Amino acid sequence: MNLNIFSNFIKERFRTDKFVPLHVPYFIGNEMDFVGETIKSTFVSSVGKYVDQFEIDLSSFLKVKRSVAVVNGTSALQVALRLAGVRKNDEVLTQSLTFVATANAIKYNYANPVFIDVDLDTMGLSPFAVSDFLDEFGELRDDGCYNKKSGRKISACMPMHTFGFPVHLEEMMKICKKWNIPLVEDAAESLGSKYKNIYTGNFGIVSGMSFNGNKIITTGGGGSILTNDNKIADKAKHITTTAKKSHPYEYFHDELGYNFRMPNINAALGCAQLENLKLFIDKKRNLAKDYYDFFKNNGIKFRKELKNTKANYWLMCIELSNKKERDLFLKETNNLNIMTRPIWKLMHRLPMYENCQKDLQINSKYLEERIINIPSSAV
Ligand SMILES: *Cc1c(COP(=O)(O)O)cnc(C)c1O
Repeated sequence: MNLNIFSNFIKERFRTDKFVPLHVPYFIGNEMDFVGETIKSTFVSSVGKYVDQFEIDLSSFLKVKRSVAVVNGTSALQVALRLAGVRKNDEVLTQSLTFVATANAIKYNYANPVFIDVDLDTMGLSPFAVSDFLDEFGELRDDGCYNKKSGRKISACMPMHTFGFPVHLEEMMKICKKWNIPLVEDAAESLGSKYKNIYTGNFGIVSGMSFNGNKIITTGGGGSILTNDNKIADKAKHITTTAKKSHPYEYFHDELGYNFRMPNINAALGCAQLENLKLFIDKKRNLAKDYYDFFKNNGIKFRKELKNTKANYWLMCIELSNKKERDLFLKETNNLNIMTRPIWKLMHRLPMYENCQKDLQINSKYLEERIINIPSSAV
């Protein structure tokens, strides 16, 4: 493809001659008012009405029973895994094709990621590859599933919905049930994405979401723990707020808790952002449609949502035919002031994860060499 055609399309679609970033936040609603209110009231920190409001608004949007707001998506995942039962020296099945936070959240629990391949169609953890892995290495015992090779307990399975495209959740839940492994969703990228008309974040026994500045909505920095289990939600609230027993003035903490509570000023921003989430998703889905038509006419594969799913199109992507073409596309578009970026390097190539057990990673390696993110803001 002649990249000047692409450049013209981008300039017209994003209505600019200047640099086009990958993803920017939009503050077009009540952001100033709500954040200003926290400043005027001085309640910018750990006390204030917006944290409760954000938790209620998010849960009602996602139709999930409970959400607990925390300082970022990584800490949401860290606590989600712990509440799913992950303990020191355990193993967690996840994908190597992901952002580093997925694997880090496992390590923060002193557990070990085991990297299983993704599906080519979803780009997320493959239930079929998980099933193959467990057929070879899994052993069901009274207290859960063990890895015959390492002797360790496999205490969670954490798929990540890459760029907002849901993994094959029905199959994933079936495999996890068969092997008695709790499912935890890394839904950091998939706020507003649906699988069979149910929002992601509802499928895990507990899940994590992110509101970092580059996500579909932002609280500056922030995340949420999601669950349909009231007990888990109460526990999540407790251990993310220093595990302090409620009392008007006494300090008593009944276990080692974290200071992970989302500050009120960030929650205020989040409440305003949530009011426009539907609009952002609609705009991104329109952009995805225009991209699809454009790339179809130019012989490049734009990654579309699968049947039975509705993607939030957080970061949109194309698939080039090989690494050489990908590298050329990256170089030329960035030279044209259009920000594009390759998908992540596989986790098992990073120094802290190079000794982790993994399968052949055939699809992950294929996608690693070919997928590029293109400008995806909700214009
Ligand atoms: C953004 C993201 C997170 C969490 O990121 P934070 O910056 O800690 O909010 C976790 N996993 C994935 C896959 C992500 O993209």
